[in-house]
Amino acid sequence: MRKPLVVGNWKMHGNSAENAALLEGLLNTELGTADVAVCPPSIYVAQVAEKLKASAMGWGVQNISAVEKGAYTGEISAPMAKDLECKFAIIGHSERRTLFGEVDKDVADKFVAAQQAGLTPIVCVGENLAEREAGETLTVVGRQLGAILAALSAGQVDGFVIAYEPVWAIGTGRTATPDQAQEVHKFIRDQLAAISAELAENIQILYGGSVKADNAEALFANPDIDGGLVGGASLLVDQFVAICRAAG
Ligand code: PEP
Repeated sequence: MRKPLVVGNWKMHGNSAENAALLEGLLNTELGTADVAVCPPSIYVAQVAEKLKASAMGWGVQNISAVEKGAYTGEISAPMAKDLECKFAIIGHSERRTLFGEVDKDVADKFVAAQQAGLTPIVCVGENLAEREAGETLTVVGRQLGAILAALSAGQVDGFVIAYEPVWAIGTGRTATPDQAQEVHKFIRDQLAAISAELAENIQILYGGSVKADNAEALFANPDIDGGLVGGASLLVDQFVAICRAAG
C-alpha cells in the first residue's frame, strides 16, 4: 500500500521568524497519519532541519543542480541537500520550467543527480492552459514523464514521487476537479505500469494546484491521488494541518 504524502512547497517565502512560527504551529498540532514534509528556500534548510529533526516531519529542497560541484555560482547540489539530511528534492516544478527555462532533459539530469545523492526526487509534470484547451494534456504529461522514465535504472521500483500539477491551477485559486485530476493520475500510473506493475503500485502520485483545506478531501479520495504538493496553503498552519489530515 502507498502511504499518503503531503509536501509543502514554500517557494520564495518566509524568514527566520516566520519559519519558526509556522513550524511551531505544525509541531504543536496533530497532523494525522500521512507522511509530511516541507521544502523551504534552501537558505533556510538548516533552520528547518534543526527544528524538525526530532519530529516525524521531513524536509527537502525546491531545486538542485544537475552537477555535483564546481564553478556554478548560486547553485546548490544534491549532495549538499543530502548533507543537510533533506529527504526530498522537488524537480521540474513548472516555475522552474517556465521562469528558468528548464527543459525535459534538465529535469531528467536533475532526477538522476538527486537519486545518486540519495534524495527522493518529487518530479513535477503538468500542462498549461493552452495545452489543456487544445486537448493536449495527456500528450504533454506523457512527454514530461517519458523523459524521467527513460532515466530510470533497470528494475527500479521506488525511490521517486510524481506530482501532477496543472500549470493553470498553480497559485491561481483554480483547482482541477477531482475527476480531471484522477484522469491524469490514472494515466500516469498506467505509464508506470507499462514498465512494471510493481513500479505502478509503489510510486506516490501527488496532486498540486491550489490544494486547500476545503478541496483536499475530495481530491485525495480518488484511488490514484496519494496526497498533495501544496504551495500557498502550506504557509498557513490551519490550512496545511487540515490538508495533512485530509490525506491520512
Ligand atoms: C506549487 O507550487 O507546487 C503549488 C501547487 O502551488 P499552489 O498550491 O499555491 O497552487
